[in-house]
Amino acid sequence: MRHPKLSRILATLAAATLAALGAVAVNPAPASAAVRNVCYNISQAGPFANTAVQAAAIWNNYTNNINMAQCGSNLRITYTYGGGSYAQRTSLGNGRVVIDYNQAQQYSALRIMTHEIGHILGLPDNYNGNCAILMSGGSAGTSCTNPYPSSTEAARVDSLFGFAARSATPAQVFTGSWPAASTVGAQR
Ligand SMILES: [Zn+2]
Repeated sequence: MRHPKLSRILATLAAATLAALGAVAVNPAPASAAVRNVCYNISQAGPFANTAVQAAAIWNNYTNNINMAQCGSNLRITYTYGGGSYAQRTSLGNGRVVIDYNQAQQYSALRIMTHEIGHILGLPDNYNGNCAILMSGGSAGTSCTNPYPSSTEAARVDSLFGFAARSATPAQVFTGSWPAASTVGAQR
């Protein structure tokens, strides 16, 4: 069945892929950096399996030092109903992402997914309300559907995975990134 929203996402993703490929050609990875596989598992992702694949492609396109692939279970993608989406990072590149199905009806599911994976890849929250910043999460409102990391965010991930800092990235659980829509409206 033709799905309008999915078509839009795929069109956006295709455009982003082209843009990212151009960026990679202009700015190749330093010779010293090692590409690290981040193996993600979508066997429990339910309706968000394709969203996870799209989010992984985005991160692959925007970074040089990681390669997300379905090669294992460094990262498990799961979902729930209510309680909020969150990321549980056990160490850099390892952990679990939980997508709140209800929340994904209000916010862009792809933006939620790339944001939560961003935590697994070492990024903290940055609730500055700027839609151009992926880690601003729900602070940018439900109208913000941008699923792409900023150049600064992508560079931070590359830095973490490219150098010794990877071992210093602490285990952390990130919750509350996506406030209820009614709350967001009231804060405006
Ligand atoms: Zn967050």
